[in-house]
Amino acid sequence: MEKVAFITGGTRGIGKQIAITLAKCRYDIAINYRNENEELENTKKEIEANNVKCLAVKGDVSNFEDCEKNVEEIISKYGKIDVLVNNAGITRDTLLMRMKKEDFEDVINTNLVGTFNVTKNVISYMLKAHYGRIINISSVVGIAGNAGQTNYSASKAGIIGFTKSLAKEVASRNILVNVVAPGFIETSMTNVLKDEIKEEIAKSIPLKRMGTTQDVANVVKFLASEDSSYITGQVINVDGGMLM
Ligand code: NDP
Repeated sequence: MEKVAFITGGTRGIGKQIAITLAKCRYDIAINYRNENEELENTKKEIEANNVKCLAVKGDVSNFEDCEKNVEEIISKYGKIDVLVNNAGITRDTLLMRMKKEDFEDVINTNLVGTFNVTKNVISYMLKAHYGRIINISSVVGIAGNAGQTNYSASKAGIIGFTKSLAKEVASRNILVNVVAPGFIETSMTNVLKDEIKEEIAKSIPLKRMGTTQDVANVVKFLASEDSSYITGQVINVDGGMLM
């Protein structure tokens, strides 16, 4: 029986690359999306081109009931979820002085509460199965902080605390919970930055380039695999050496 991986925010960016990479490793895939669009259809086709199944479920991770329904739908199709990748995330960058209450709440509710909402609905199935791999996508700014991102770095730091606590709770059931903390990765999230700023950032990174979505997906693939069976509660930075 194929393993099943559920990737939130799997229609574009890092999530899409993770879904395709796991599909290449013969996982059946579930992704969630908020709005039907061309990108969703293309992503589904790219996943299915690897001769695996792909189920796309509609839901907003900041909404607990949506997550409950998404997980029920995945379980009724596949019967299990072996790997959960909490990837969906947003930014609303601005200095605290200018930040609206909604900017703070939206980011916490999507990134941190969203991770709780999905994991809470998946964990009982993993506990029963005595098996699971949960990989939470945080960020290096959750470790180091970043001016203009008090909301985002708080959410990403929260994900690290959540991960370590859950890793301790569920280790005895063979469920491993880890964090991948990307640095600057080329996606629509970072495309909003001007080219000069991106060049400056690349210069400051020891490996002298921004990361690719594949750089992140490769580490998720490792953490989802049996090669990582003695690793839990860890944070792996994928940042070209930026934070060392
Ligand atoms: P993108 O903006 O390209 O993609 C974000 C994805 O998350 C989209 O699929 C989006 O869906 C989904 N999403 C956002 N909000 C929700 C929600 N409420 N419910 C369901 N899905 C949602 O971002 P990236 O691919 O760059 O980022 C992916 C993850 O990696 C995020 O957690 C981000 O914080 C993290 N990260 C990214 C870095 C980077 O440099 N790019 C660096 C460090 C961390 P939709 O299409 O519906 O909007």
